[in-house]
Parts: sequence; C-alpha cells; structure tokens
Amino acid sequence: MKEYDIAVIGGGPAGMMAAYAASQNSSDVVLLEKNSRLGRKLLITGGGRCNITNNKPIKKLLNSYSQKNFLKHSFYTFTNEDLFSFFNLEFCEEDDNRVFPKSGKSSDLLKVISDKLQDVDVIYNFEVESISQDFVINDKLKARKIIIATGGITYPQTGCGPEGYYLTSQPVTDIKYGLVPLITKKDLSSIAGVTLYDVVISYKKSRVRGNVLFSHVGLTGPGVINLSNEISESISYNLLENENADLNFEIAIDLIPELSREELREKFTKDFQLKGKTMLKNYLKLFLTNSFIDFFLDEIGLDSEIQLANVNKKAKNRLIENLKRFAFEITGFNKDLSKVTIGGVDLSNVSSKTLESTLIPGLYFAGEVLDLHGPTGGYNLKIAFSTGYLAGLSAGQK
Ligand SMILES: Cc1cc2nc3c(=O)[nH]c(=O)nc-3n(C[C@H](O)[C@H](O)[C@H](O)COP(=O)(O)OP(=O)(O)OC[C@H]3O[C@@H](n4cnc5c(N)ncnc54)[C@H](O)[C@@H]3O)c2cc1C
Repeated sequence: MKEYDIAVIGGGPAGMMAAYAASQNSSDVVLLEKNSRLGRKLLITGGGRCNITNNKPIKKLLNSYSQKNFLKHSFYTFTNEDLFSFFNLEFCEEDDNRVFPKSGKSSDLLKVISDKLQDVDVIYNFEVESISQDFVINDKLKARKIIIATGGITYPQTGCGPEGYYLTSQPVTDIKYGLVPLITKKDLSSIAGVTLYDVVISYKKSRVRGNVLFSHVGLTGPGVINLSNEISESISYNLLENENADLNFEIAIDLIPELSREELREKFTKDFQLKGKTMLKNYLKLFLTNSFIDFFLDEIGLDSEIQLANVNKKAKNRLIENLKRFAFEITGFNKDLSKVTIGGVDLSNVSSKTLESTLIPGLYFAGEVLDLHGPTGGYNLKIAFSTGYLAGLSAGQK
C-alpha cells in the first residue's frame, strides 16, 4: 500500500490550490479527482471567462460574507495580490470590482494551476468512496493527512455531489441551493431577455439593489441571484434529506428606487399637465426599459396608448403603486442553474486558523464543501483559492 504524506480529495480550484500549497513543504502529495480532468467547474465559471475574484479592499470584501470571521485568516494568508502573482497573467477589473483574466478564458487559469502541480501525483478517475479512521482510502492508498475539497452539490455534471459530506463523521449543516434563479407563477416568455437595470428587489425585509433579467420561466440577473441566497437561507429545508423547498411567496421590484412615492406623485402631477398629449407608454420611457413597458401596463390593467391628460386619479395611484412595488409570485428555485451550495461542513468544528478539523486531527477542509458561500461577483472562487491555499499550507507545515 502506498502511503502519502497528504492526500487531497477533489481537483477543483480549492483542491488544486491546496495540493500546490502542500507540495511547497511536502514532497509526498497526491491529488485524487473523480473526473478524467481537473477543474471542470472552473472552466464554466463566469460564462467561460472566469470571474476569478473580487477586488474590493480586503475589509470591505470580508464584510460581504456572513461567515467573515471564519474567512479572515484565509483571506489574509492568501490575498488577491498573492492570487494575481500566483497566476502571473494579465487581469482586468470590471464593474463592481469583478476581476477576469484579460484573455477572457478560464482555460488559461486552469493551465497555469495545473502546470504548477508538477510535484504532485495527480490520479484521475479516482472517486473516493470512504476514508477509514486511520485514513486508508482504498486497499492501495492511504495518507497521513487528508484535505477534503469535494465542492458543493450544484452542477453535478461537473463532478460535484454530496459525497464529501459523508466521507467523515464531521457534522454538516442543512444543504440548500444558493445563487439560484427564481421560477415565477406567471409565464414571462413575452419579455424573456429583457433586463431592468439598477432596481431594488425585496423579499420580506431583505432588499438587494441590482439588475433583473427575465427568462422564459422566471427571474434571474445579479440582483435576483444575490437575493436568492437570503431567500434560500430563510426557508427551512435540507437537500441531503430530500426535502425540496416548498415555495410560494412573493417578491417585489421597486422599478424607480431613486424616487419615493411622494416624489413620483409630484412629478406625475406636473408632467401629466405639461405633456397632456403624450401617450403613457412613451412617457414611461423616461423611467423604464422600453421593451418592458407594454408588459408592465398590460399587467396593471392600464391602456398603454392613453394620453397623460386622460389618466385619472385612480389610474395614477395604481401606476405609482406598481412602479414602486411590482410583485411576482414565486413557485420554485430553478435548481439546475444554482451556482453555489449554501451549507456544508459545520464551521464550528473546523479551525479558521488552519482549516483542520477540531474533531479529527490530520483532517482538513477547503472550498465549497465547507459551510461557506458568497454573493455573485468573484466571491466564491475567492473562498476556494484562499481556503485551498491555507489548508494546503497548514497540512504541509505540521
Ligand atoms: C455555472 C457556474 C458559474 C460560476 N461562476 C463563478 C464565477 O465566475 N466566480 C466565482 O467566484 N464563482 C463562480 N462559481 C462558483 C465556483 O465555481 C465554485 O464556488 C468553486 O468552483 C468551488 O470550488 P471547489 O474547488 O470548492 O469545488 P469544485 O469546483 O466543485 O470542485 C470539486 C472537485 O471535487 C471532485 N470530487 C467531488 N467528489 C469527489 C470524490 N468523492 N472523489 C474525488 N473527487 C471528487 C469534483 O469532480 C470536482 O472536480 C460558478 C459556479 C457555477 C456552477
């Protein structure tokens, strides 16, 4: 039986980074990957362009995560500057501090990180099914230390699945869909592809400002996707127990967040007198995406061709109310498109300083298998690379 110093399970960004960092101090590292290649999920990130991280200053960045205290040590140990110099490629920063490789190809990142694994034994098509108490992985392979980096449950076609949660006795929190589009009761095919820019989307007391994109089955776009994390967290279900979320709730969109109801009323009163002959649908172009106006007016039962002078008080009230609170009934998560898993290995049994289990010495965790997640915008790969580095460094050093 071959005994390695360190075995890393899972060849995604967290596992590859962990194996690299471990190999800097240990010459005896193996990376076990279920697929016939590494980083299948990494390749499809950011639509193939890979939004590798978010370049907000580190304190602001940490504030974007509900698990910021746990992540602090990982983020300070492997910063964005470390990440950029590790890859040594040209990067560009887009809106909201999102960073992409300048080439626009996630495959360039995968090549760099794979090339850095020359001191690691990489074994493909190796699905780890169990780990014994003394870290025997199968009849041919055991390790002194193990790093589990098997990812979450979303996009199973990339190799992910719940196996990592069952490999050890480490407690796991409820597993839920994150960053997931919402399915609406209403058929939205007539406006599929239309985007509402910079609106406020609310669910109960949660509010997120961002873009909404209509799809054939419902709502997506960064604003909705980010709000979906708060929605999913607030609902009680656990995918590991086959409890699908039973959804039936409302979300509302403030289509003109920069003006209050009173300001809108004042503006409409003035404008409707001054521009009495203008058709309502043309006037609304001042505020709304053109291709959304007919749908909106139809939904709220107003004639799109009515002249402003003929909009009576009741209709004006209905217009204002719906511009400030346009509601959609939600019936489900579009789960096949969930980008990240909420929940995972319980952080209360893992040291944030080393990522070693506090229950099983020699066992480490990295990446999405942990109960860690962030919003959309490079925040989740940031978790994978930083925790991967810290887990590998810690396992290699001891
Ligand atoms: C479509 C899509 C787009 C995304 N875009 C972005 C983005 O642009 N920016 C961003 O920050 N985040 C993005 N994410 C999220 C990001 O991809 C993940 O958070 C990240 O890949 C997690 O890395 P990981 O290494 O922990 O897990 P994974 O990338 O899931 O890797 C886990 C690996 O473990 C292997 N494995 C699993 N079980 C076993 C086993 N039993 N034995 C052996 N191997 C096993 C799997 O085959 C897989 O290769 C996106 C996600 C999706 C689905």
